[in-house]
Amino acid sequence: MSGRTRARACPERTCVGCRERAAKAELLRIVAIKGACVPDPRGTLPGRGAYVHPAPVCLDQAVRRRAFPRALRVPGPLDTKALRHHVEQTTVAEQATR
Ligand SMILES: [Zn+2]
Repeated sequence: MSGRTRARACPERTCVGCRERAAKAELLRIVAIKGACVPDPRGTLPGRGAYVHPAPVCLDQAVRRRAFPRALRVPGPLDTKALRHHVEQTTVAEQATR
């Protein structure tokens, strides 16, 4: 028995927007459903997921460099309207509680 007890206590993911690594809990999971990016804040939807900071800046960067289709391995452009709405709501809610 070697003492490797706490190898990966905190799983990290890379934000597809700013490309910075962050704790999985700080990022919003995105899945592609029927040609649209769907936010999956609880991480329960099946399929491949992409991770992005729930911030409009990161979302914009991800959209501009077409990171979602690439990360999610889908061919076409993805609709990000619902995702943007979700992110904007999350951002407003966070600012309101500050
Ligand atoms: Zn980011």
